[in-house]
Amino acid sequence: MGMINEYLVENEIEYDPNFLLSTITKIKGNGCCDYYCKPNSLSQLKKIISFCITENILFDVVGNVSNTYFLNNYRTSVIVSTLKVKEISFNNDSIICSCGVNLSKISRECVRRGFAGYEGFIGVPGTVGAAAINNTGAFQSSMHEIVKSVTLLNLENEIIHLTNKDLKYETRNSVLKSLEIKGFVLSVEIHTKEKEDITVLKQRVLENRIFRKNNIDGHRKSLGSVFVSPTLRYLMVNFRVRLFLKKICYAPFKILVKDTAKLKKINTFLVFLFLGVPQLAKHCDSLNRFCWEENTLEDDFMNYINTMQRLSKNKLKIEIAIKGNQ
Ligand SMILES: Cc1cc2nc3c(=O)[nH]c(=O)nc-3n(C[C@H](O)[C@H](O)[C@H](O)COP(=O)(O)OP(=O)(O)OC[C@H]3O[C@@H](n4cnc5c(N)ncnc54)[C@H](O)[C@@H]3O)c2cc1C
Repeated sequence: MGMINEYLVENEIEYDPNFLLSTITKIKGNGCCDYYCKPNSLSQLKKIISFCITENILFDVVGNVSNTYFLNNYRTSVIVSTLKVKEISFNNDSIICSCGVNLSKISRECVRRGFAGYEGFIGVPGTVGAAAINNTGAFQSSMHEIVKSVTLLNLENEIIHLTNKDLKYETRNSVLKSLEIKGFVLSVEIHTKEKEDITVLKQRVLENRIFRKNNIDGHRKSLGSVFVSPTLRYLMVNFRVRLFLKKICYAPFKILVKDTAKLKKINTFLVFLFLGVPQLAKHCDSLNRFCWEENTLEDDFMNYINTMQRLSKNKLKIEIAIKGNQ
């Protein structure tokens, strides 16, 4: 372990020793690492990842951890955070973003310059590196539409480039997420081919922000959608009659209750009630969004996942990254 310490100091890579991951996730838990490293440039990022690969050190790379759950039993030597790796360079018809650039920032920059296709990313809390792996998307924007190529450091310590086609994008999936190809995203090249009137783009951003605030992102701590949304259809089909009855029951509330937040809460409760698992409602903002409060336990989260899988006959695909031994 002294070896890592020396390497980090020698290369002036900032780090926190004996790091409890709840510090960054804001979710209570015991997952931890020996060194939480915060490289501040692409060159430092490459160095620390290469070092861990060469020296066979157990490590992980994370972005904004907005989509990652660390189990209580999660232990590793090194976690490399990409959050300070934020270089951006503009070319003729593309932008090269280092992996730690925030998706909302890219959205704002592109809209300001009149580049279309980025308006939907406003308010998505992740980094572009993770988004390129997950094929993140919202409203009219999706990573598979804008990624030109991704630069990786693979497990053999080689730099490789994958084109959009190589990434084989599917809903919230790619060859990097399915681990068909293993590696760490260093940078993402996104295209800026399409231009549109800036006022129109800004208006779309505003509408998306308002919609997110009222209908998607609540005030409670969540990791976004737990399951890949289209796979929820299996559950919907299994329970179509009950969910139809729920719709009838919900109709009067839609007329009587004017407060959208209250209405959303009622809807969520009714969905879980009609699915026969009302006890899950208190943990969720919607069918697909689990929320953490001060007293939420890992068992509550695991119970939610297992119950949802049971209801869908194990057909749901998990969207978030769960790290540790399950
Ligand atoms: C409130 C909220 C709203 C959200 N809304 C949306 C939405 O509208 N649409 C949507 O698609 N998603 C949404 N998400 C999910 C999430 O923000 C995105 O998927 C985002 O792209 C994740 O980025 P991150 O940097 O936080 O990833 P992290 O959680 O840090 O990482 C996710 C996974 O990628 C790996 N990883 C991260 N960076 C790298 C790298 N450089 N190289 C290799 N592996 C890496 C991690 O190890 C982990 O396995 C939302 C989440 C929240 C909390």
